[in-house]
Amino acid sequence: MYRTHTCGELNASHIGREVTLAGWVQTIRKVSNSLSFVDLRDRYGITQLLIGEGLAAQLSNESLGREYVVQATGKVIERTNKNPQLATGDIEIEVSRYTILNKAATPPFTIQDDTDGGDDLRMKFRYLDLRRQAVRKNLELRYAVNRSARNYLHENHFMDIETPFLIKSTPEGARDFVVPSRMNGGQFYALPQSPQTFKQLLMVSGYDRYYQIVKCFRDEDLRADRQPEFTQIDCEMSFVEQEDILQMFEGLVKRIFKDVKGIDYAEKVERMTWNDAMLQYGNDKPDIRFGMKLANLKTIFEGQSGDAQARVLFEAGGFKVFNDAETVLAISVPGCSDYTRKQTDELTEWVKRPQIGMNGLVFIKCNTDGSYKSSVDKFFSEEQLKQLAVACGAQTGDLILLLAGREERTRKAASELRLYMGERLGLRKKDDFKLLWVLDFPLFEYAEEENRWVARHHPFTSPKPDQIATMIGNDPVIKDAANYLSHPYANIKANAYDMVLNGNEIGGGSIRIFQRELQEKMFAALGMSPEEALHKFGFLLGAFEYGAPPHGGIAFGFDRLCSILGGSESIRDFIAFPKNNSGRDVMLDAPSAIDEKQLEELSIKLRS
Ligand code: ASP
Repeated sequence: MYRTHTCGELNASHIGREVTLAGWVQTIRKVSNSLSFVDLRDRYGITQLLIGEGLAAQLSNESLGREYVVQATGKVIERTNKNPQLATGDIEIEVSRYTILNKAATPPFTIQDDTDGGDDLRMKFRYLDLRRQAVRKNLELRYAVNRSARNYLHENHFMDIETPFLIKSTPEGARDFVVPSRMNGGQFYALPQSPQTFKQLLMVSGYDRYYQIVKCFRDEDLRADRQPEFTQIDCEMSFVEQEDILQMFEGLVKRIFKDVKGIDYAEKVERMTWNDAMLQYGNDKPDIRFGMKLANLKTIFEGQSGDAQARVLFEAGGFKVFNDAETVLAISVPGCSDYTRKQTDELTEWVKRPQIGMNGLVFIKCNTDGSYKSSVDKFFSEEQLKQLAVACGAQTGDLILLLAGREERTRKAASELRLYMGERLGLRKKDDFKLLWVLDFPLFEYAEEENRWVARHHPFTSPKPDQIATMIGNDPVIKDAANYLSHPYANIKANAYDMVLNGNEIGGGSIRIFQRELQEKMFAALGMSPEEALHKFGFLLGAFEYGAPPHGGIAFGFDRLCSILGGSESIRDFIAFPKNNSGRDVMLDAPSAIDEKQLEELSIKLRS
């Protein structure tokens, strides 16, 4: 061993001991010609070396520099100038001998917590970036989550079973990465978007509790915070119903909270139907750390509530923007009725940004003195404003923000605006964790261009048990495209669930189809001919003939879970060697061209 201790472990109890450390030079402070201090760093911490008189000549000859790799032997002594910030801050090493194990070129950025290197530079020299404590802490957290998940799953009899990476394409909604086969010229493997069909086959084989912390590959456009290869905690269980899965895996997440963050998540994990999530929050992964649910004025005034008087009021305003809109959504923001003109203008500009795409914003102030004021005072009397406010469920002191327009765009905009206001008001605290199950998703989505159904989750998801008959008994073909919503398939709910943490989908799964007939019907619903279904999924349909047990599972986005627990927006910070937004590894310079000989071996001719 090159060392007796690490750079993070020595303290006052070691005073007087002779030790040897090895690590990287973090900083050198030359006090005089015969006295220098060197901070030596390794994965565990930093220890101060005192290089005194006897070594002064050696030090100046060798011109020790930052990031040099050094071995130093000496006595642990008490520091006169203690540093309470540092675990080793009570002591220093009076060095009697040191050896430079390796020199280092001047690094392109300083290895410290707040470094000046831009993103690109840090990615190009990721091995240096990884030396920084902030990055190391993230990887340590990742490892802690990994260990915690493995322990929990092991204790619950899950078995880690590896599945292949070179497979045939399993559609999960994204594009496959493909790998050419040299031995089978002209043919390609696909990299798995997830081990979905394998884990189901393992259930058929009787391995009733499977898990894997596994890489998945999806060739998507990398908008937002995505990576082409990412990691899932992938799980599957046999002989379970939805409730069993929910219990088992909220247990997993709670255990991770406990092990990694020391948090006892004692409260019940909330549950919400997909429908309610869409209506009340405008999206299927609501952040429930704060309220401000959306109120839909169109349905309040025109719809189910059938409140004729209120409707008259709404229309009486004669405000064309509201009356012509497909939907009018309101958010009551607490304690903001005193917003100034400048602040409401700011919000209006915010909703007009192209990403949000609204034409404008209407507001009503529910002032604390009981009066009401709005940006549409021309159209509504104060009494009418009051009634609108009541309909929105607003309280005194609220600022009601109203968006009107086409259904989908308005819903998305309202959802974004709600999150933005939550952020502005400091209601989205990083260390406040709120879990939520979203349930009862639609089984199908409608693909307009192709006039057919697509699986909302994936083609192996089962409908709710009481809707299997509807699925089997009806022809999936959509004869009347304009009225696709009246097709019986439009209302089938999936036996699927998503786990949401602070507004992020961290996991999702479903109870699976396990009967051949239903699986065939599903493939047909997705527009596959029987031949195509057999060609693509013959192995699965075949397996279902040999005693497939009822089963279901879930997969968690491991990188995302780590980033949320670590309080970061970006999953990249929690991946040792991530790719950039164009899917490039700038350190390796990949992807890159391959030479002609390799292409020939693979029977590939490039088109240009
Ligand atoms: N394979 C699914 C996914 O990656 C998860 C699951 O259904 O278990 O989203």
